[in-house]
Amino acid sequence: MTDKFDYNSDKLDNEELNDICDECEKKDETVTQNLILMGYKLCNSCRISKTLFPL
Ligand SMILES: [Zn+2]
Repeated sequence: MTDKFDYNSDKLDNEELNDICDECEKKDETVTQNLILMGYKLCNSCRISKTLFPL
């Protein structure tokens, strides 16, 4: 279980900074900004959708 967790963490480190939105999977520089500022890996358009419709 520990091994799997460590593997996933390493993978996340690389993937989290690739500017790819979790929602629409488009590359956008706002994705990393939102990830750092809000903790959500979303572009600005998806972030607005999530804010208006959290579910
Ligand atoms: Zn998006």
